[in-house]
Amino acid sequence: MKIAKILVDVPTRQTDRTFDYLVPAELFVECGMRVVVEFGRRKVTGFVVDFVDSTDFSGRLKEISEVIDDKPVLDQEQLKMAQFLAGQYFTFAVTNLWLMLPGMLKGKTEKYLIVHNLTDESLLPLFSEGTLRYDSKTLSATQQKKIRAALARNELEVVYSQSRVITKKYTEIINSKIALDDIPAEIDKLSKQNKYGQLFWQTVLTEGSPLAVKHLTKEIGIPRRVLTKLAQEGSIELSKVEIYRTPLAASPKKKSQLLTHTKEQSAAIKEIAASFDTDQTFLLEGITGSGKTEIYRALSEKVIKSGKKVIILVPEISLTPQMISFFQASFNDRIAVWHSRLSRGEQYDEWRRIKNNEVDLVLGVRSAIFVPLKDLGLIVVDEEHEKSYRQSENPQYDARELAKWRGNYHSCPVIFGSATPTLTSRAKAERQIYRLIRLDKRVNPNGHLPTVQIVDLRDRNNRSSKIFSEDLKRAMLERFERKEQTILFLNRRGYANFLECRNCGYTFNCPNCDVSLTLHLFEHRLSCHYCGYKCAIPMSCPNCHETDLRSFGDGTEKVEEEIKQLNPEITTIRMDRDTTSRKGSYQKIISQFEHHEADILVGTQSVAKGLNFPEVTLVGVLNADISLNRPEFDASEVTFDLLTQVAGRAGRGQTAGKVIIQTYNPNHYAIKEAKDQNYERFFREEMYLRRLHGYLPYYYTIFIKVTSKEEMLALKTALDLQKLLSENKNEQTQILGPAPYYIKRINNEYTYQLALKYKKDEKMKMTLHEIIDQTQSNNKVKINISNVTC
Ligand code: ADP
Ligand code: ZN
Repeated sequence: MKIAKILVDVPTRQTDRTFDYLVPAELFVECGMRVVVEFGRRKVTGFVVDFVDSTDFSGRLKEISEVIDDKPVLDQEQLKMAQFLAGQYFTFAVTNLWLMLPGMLKGKTEKYLIVHNLTDESLLPLFSEGTLRYDSKTLSATQQKKIRAALARNELEVVYSQSRVITKKYTEIINSKIALDDIPAEIDKLSKQNKYGQLFWQTVLTEGSPLAVKHLTKEIGIPRRVLTKLAQEGSIELSKVEIYRTPLAASPKKKSQLLTHTKEQSAAIKEIAASFDTDQTFLLEGITGSGKTEIYRALSEKVIKSGKKVIILVPEISLTPQMISFFQASFNDRIAVWHSRLSRGEQYDEWRRIKNNEVDLVLGVRSAIFVPLKDLGLIVVDEEHEKSYRQSENPQYDARELAKWRGNYHSCPVIFGSATPTLTSRAKAERQIYRLIRLDKRVNPNGHLPTVQIVDLRDRNNRSSKIFSEDLKRAMLERFERKEQTILFLNRRGYANFLECRNCGYTFNCPNCDVSLTLHLFEHRLSCHYCGYKCAIPMSCPNCHETDLRSFGDGTEKVEEEIKQLNPEITTIRMDRDTTSRKGSYQKIISQFEHHEADILVGTQSVAKGLNFPEVTLVGVLNADISLNRPEFDASEVTFDLLTQVAGRAGRGQTAGKVIIQTYNPNHYAIKEAKDQNYERFFREEMYLRRLHGYLPYYYTIFIKVTSKEEMLALKTALDLQKLLSENKNEQTQILGPAPYYIKRINNEYTYQLALKYKKDEKMKMTLHEIIDQTQSNNKVKINISNVTC
């Protein structure tokens, strides 16, 4: 009997390797399929990684109990990627494999077989209502064989279902008896029900048939026997096409514009194309509006023409409808999009299209780096400085590291694009590890960089209202008069940051976390942005019972209110997590603003990045200090990047742009260099400080967070770790802490943090792998290890 090497879904250090199982002759098993095996006394899921002829195991091998998939769901590259990640981020290979599967294949998905036109009648008794839960435990070996044969003849269909409800609807469709006369009405009805099913038959009706014209392009889920009958009568012709719920179907298709490339663009395209068969990483450092996206598009076109595929990663925030339609215009239906707002069904369908080789280019957020595109010819990481490329919860990964890993695997170039590259990338470019390509000009000849003005909020004369300085106020009103648009950026949602009693100084804090509650006037709530706790806005102080409550720290809701007070005719739209949580709402806001249905767009992070509104001539940053004051080693870098990005939103059309930055730290180098749009100088200053304090790119940092409901246990565990690590590290490695995490208590759990700064320290990494293992069995303490390498 054949022997399969199987990675079992039991994530511990001892079990994170393959185990040998026998493959029963009647089971069809390939590498990359999921199976069920007995492990100890449990039945667990396993991934088939390899086949061998003999085993080193001295005991009696068990047989695979069940095969879950009909086709491999993972490929060799993904299996290797999972191993790479495990080593890099102190995680388990098997846990990483789940990262590479669509949500639909995780959790309690059940498999059902649907009968279409079964010729092997001996199988019929198995099916009730046209479906059978597909679980080979209940089937004899002969039955399994017959079912596979029927699947091959397309008489059965495998349906993955999240719940019985879905399947039941499907069953109704399959079993409904429809009089032939009622078909047009039924078709309408069934088409509407399509959202319930996973796969539907698309019927192409021949022209001239009474049903044809109206329904030709519609998806029809109707009993095959009815259609067969119609086909036999010669009134329709049947052909089978697998169809998908595609998130792009609804978006309007634009024709692609042929752009004449600028000199800089042509040179960049030429240089990168010359390296198509190497795994060179390019750092494309181009100011905002310098036409980087067009460079990605043009290169993708070349790659696809040569028969290869492309992945383009963008931060969640800049995967805008604008970006999608730009690529769609060139590549039509051969692109897939991948982001967190897709439904599970949409994601599953995009994944199947990719697997079925129906996609040439995937445009997506960080998790798109895992898509099973074969034969990659180019990987792009746009806005490479964005933090969102790193997933910091377990299983951790950094899409930028993976992009390079895959580039190496496929021997294809990787492009990191940014106006403000990470210090790490830029330092690598200086050492010629990456190749630097610079774009210094905006494409639009009138599109000069905007003028940036800094307003010192410490000077009382500058303050007009609580939120707007005199200069900003004047500039906003001027834009309104001239019918130009404005974007206001404030990185804080809600109405106010906290509520305080003016009589006794009591502040309203979250009962579960060490933070104040945010005031949301719009939904009449105080809410905690860390644990989600919500309560009604109190009328009086619970401490002194006075009613003199006052809010501090302005949020985006308050900004809208103050604009109304300035001039009630000015219309505003707000874009933050509160207004964009519903599906489609983000797109709607962008489109409204694009069509000038509002004069001012007020928002958090998401207005800062990626958007392109030609009529915006003014951008106001209401409080640049919010990100500067974050207790993180790269707060200056984040602030500089953010301000540069925001500034890039202004003056993208014909009229020159203006940016006003309000701050209490006008002399801070991050703010000064952002004002001058001088990346070069910022880079030097920040590098100097990083070197002084021993941070990236001079030292890598590993943060270890120890969390427990019992504070003393968290602290004690952290101290033990510190001791263990100091005994098992090399001399260069420094250990800082443990110290309370900057918000010590979140959701009634306490966190202490250690930081390790290292250059190269294999011994320390081994120790960390062991620590993970030891603490896994302890359910009172959680340990999160995060390895920051870029
Ligand atoms: P970046 O990504 O560098 O910020 P974009 O790619 O968004 O810049 O380009 C800015 C604008 O210039 C976009 O509206 C884009 O369509 C346009 N553009 C890019 N290349 C050209 C070109 N060669 N000719 C004309 N317009 C261009
Ligand atoms: Zn809370």
